[in-house]
Amino acid sequence: VAVLAPEATELEVRRLVEGVRLRGFEASVYDVGPGVILLPSVSPEDLDELIGGHRAIERVFIPDTRYCLVRREVEPSGTAVRIGDVVVDEGGFAVVAGPCAVESREQLLATATGVQSAGASILRGGAFKPRTSPYNFQGLGMRGLELLAEARSRTGLPVVSEIMDPHLIEPMYRLVDAFQVGARNMQNFDLLRALGDADKPVIVKRAPSATVEEWLLAAEYILAGGNERVVLCERGIRTFNNTTRYTLDLASVALVKRETHLPVLVDPSHATGDPVLVAPCSLAALALGADGIMVEVHDDPRLALSDGQQSLTIEAFAQLMDSLRRLAPATGRRIASPLHTLSA
Ligand code: PEP
Ligand code: MN
Repeated sequence: VAVLAPEATELEVRRLVEGVRLRGFEASVYDVGPGVILLPSVSPEDLDELIGGHRAIERVFIPDTRYCLVRREVEPSGTAVRIGDVVVDEGGFAVVAGPCAVESREQLLATATGVQSAGASILRGGAFKPRTSPYNFQGLGMRGLELLAEARSRTGLPVVSEIMDPHLIEPMYRLVDAFQVGARNMQNFDLLRALGDADKPVIVKRAPSATVEEWLLAAEYILAGGNERVVLCERGIRTFNNTTRYTLDLASVALVKRETHLPVLVDPSHATGDPVLVAPCSLAALALGADGIMVEVHDDPRLALSDGQQSLTIEAFAQLMDSLRRLAPATGRRIASPLHTLSA
């Protein structure tokens, strides 16, 4: 992996790549971090002769992993991903909050204004729901996305919603500020490839049975497809323990933060399945260096059509925000907020 120098010009890079190809080696340029050239077939011995000392190259590293573009060495200070007007990066802590599913206009607007006044950074809400049982509420579909767009203009919060089908990229495009790849679709490679071609941030949730390597390779697909605006999200993995819904793998979050330059979120709602555990796990996520959380909040969890058992009330969410605001300065971070907050 050759990382480009900031002063490298397009012409220099093109000539360098053409030269490498003429010698019979593969070379491809990716717009990730400062820009990189992947040279998959060049041996370390040939590397120096091919590109060594070239003005356009800042540094070269040889990855010992199958993923390359997501590696920390590409952007050692971390990548900032902008979702709407909110910057998700290591200086801030992004709080993505909202209902599991968009259920009605009243439910969504009550929850959206509730989380916005409590200080959330980004609104979440599923319109296409991946439900384990076909008899459960499947989401409002496009109508749900229209409601999310309305909630966005009411609150000024950018919105994120799950996408399950590549054909929905186009109709969803203007209604959401980020696409969410759900845990069940982390290895839907057609979807990952299509999102690599989309000009919109993507939040990639870890599948409950995915290794860290598989999770990072899912992100690599999107970067390799040309979209570098990727955020990872740990949401619990399946283990022998059944006292929490899944097992929140916080150690892997700390590991992944060292391994990749992409921002990493923690979803304590799906991971624990228990609203009582959401606040302590959120504080742990902030303390260990995650770049934000994704939490489920409902204006009346008892009536929720999906994941009500783990959703926070708006009051509990406001308390969580208070605790996060108290801890944030000790971790050198501030809670992320939209750059242009709408006037009330
Ligand atoms: C969700 O965020 O509502 C969701 C379905 O999460 P996951 O894909 O992590 O199960
Ligand atoms: Mn949910």
